[in-house]
Amino acid sequence: MAQPLKIVIVGAGIGGLACAIVSRRQGLNVVVLEKVEKLSPVGAGIQIPPNASRVWAQYELLDRLKEYSVISKATQLRRWKDGELLCSRSVGEELDERWPWLVIHRADYQRILVEESERLGVELRLKADVQDIDFENTKVTLGNGEDISGDVIIGADGLWSTFRARILGRDSPPQETGDLAYRGTFSLSALQALKDPAVDELCKKNVVTMWIGPESHSVFYPVRCGNEFNLVMTRPDDLPPGVKTEEGDIQGMKAVFEGWDPVLTKILTAFSSVLRWKMMHHDELAFWTKNNVALLGDACHPSLPYQAQGAAMAVEDGTIIATLLGLYQEAHSKSLPHPTLSETLKLYESLQKLRTTTLHLGSISNQHLYHLDDGPDQEERDRILKAAQWQEKPSGQSEPFIWIDVRYQKAMLSHDAIGGAKKRWEEAIQGPRQERS
Ligand SMILES: Cc1cc2nc3c(=O)[nH]c(=O)nc-3n(C[C@H](O)[C@H](O)[C@H](O)COP(=O)(O)OP(=O)(O)OC[C@H]3O[C@@H](n4cnc5c(N)ncnc54)[C@H](O)[C@@H]3O)c2cc1C
Repeated sequence: MAQPLKIVIVGAGIGGLACAIVSRRQGLNVVVLEKVEKLSPVGAGIQIPPNASRVWAQYELLDRLKEYSVISKATQLRRWKDGELLCSRSVGEELDERWPWLVIHRADYQRILVEESERLGVELRLKADVQDIDFENTKVTLGNGEDISGDVIIGADGLWSTFRARILGRDSPPQETGDLAYRGTFSLSALQALKDPAVDELCKKNVVTMWIGPESHSVFYPVRCGNEFNLVMTRPDDLPPGVKTEEGDIQGMKAVFEGWDPVLTKILTAFSSVLRWKMMHHDELAFWTKNNVALLGDACHPSLPYQAQGAAMAVEDGTIIATLLGLYQEAHSKSLPHPTLSETLKLYESLQKLRTTTLHLGSISNQHLYHLDDGPDQEERDRILKAAQWQEKPSGQSEPFIWIDVRYQKAMLSHDAIGGAKKRWEEAIQGPRQERS
């Protein structure tokens, strides 16, 4: 058999690691270049919705992830002032059973993916800061001058991607969303020390709780098997332009949420320090690939995290790229007709670009939904949320909000990234062109 393809992945975030793991499972050679010396993801939680847990089920990582997470049974929207339940959405028994909605600490998620990458023989190089890329020769150059070439290069370098500009041929920084987030985790014992029965009750629930209110919302869920809890709070962004993150002022944070549900304000008293993050996104890029180089994850479609889908989409991206490259390698080794490598990367783009734009726009519409001021629009929103029937509307009809639109939610959450990639490959080889790369 010919030499396996060599995939060079720039960035060991969740998207880059997903691409590395699935690529190795296809028998490809993989090098991951990561600029930091030590991987230490921000101390906060992350949700793994069914479209991502489905990938991990297929690659036998779901049980490992479950050891460190909690299966969320529902996402619940509550009124900011008093915690009144407005709407509770579960993903349904079929998804629950096979591809559950997990909530996990980011450090655990990334560590499990790193361990799996290493077990599979991925070459993971830390302190490898990629400074330049040569599209003609499919080669990157590190800060120390070392050149590393491959058959394919994947720019998985996140929100502040430098690959994005290199592929587009012009600067294209992410745009402000108008919101910032406070993020933190608490131990169960710290919350129990508050001695508040309502907080204790909340800690026993395996759900994602969201309080929605004027200009802000807050998200709370368990991680680490219920021994820790994650809290994210959003508010209008008042960080100066260009400041990505800074140490937050706890009193200022509490002032924003003054008058909110006493359960939430009680939890806030357990914060000892807090970070503020400017939340950024990007409009749809014109294209994601150039020659044998492609972007994935936040590098090409950063969005507001208001559907908990950013990393899940990065997992889908990485999985699709790897699946298609595996099919390419198989066809190539059997001398079957197949698309070129750059055409194969375009197949990936054709699968994910519209999907992630739909997600991006959906997150902006959720920003509006969550942050309505009290008044007639909010009353109407709450009435609609409370009356949600959870039935798919006839074709051509939709719910007023994607949050309760069963067709939209199914399209996001029941998506089979691997099956979709295989199908697109089959379609492509039905009218094959001869290999030209
Ligand atoms: C408040 C908040 C909550 C969120 N909650 C969720 C959630 O619940 N569920 C969900 O799915 N998503 C969530 N997201 C989104 C999610 O965090 C991101 O979409 C996801 O982490 C992006 O992964 P990535 O691999 O594309 O990029 P990243 O995780 O940013 O990884 C990029 C990597 O590339 C490295 N790198 C950068 N430049 C170079 C270079 N030149 N050379 C080498 N390495 C380089 C970086 O060091 C980094 O390790 C949330 C986001 C926020 C802000």
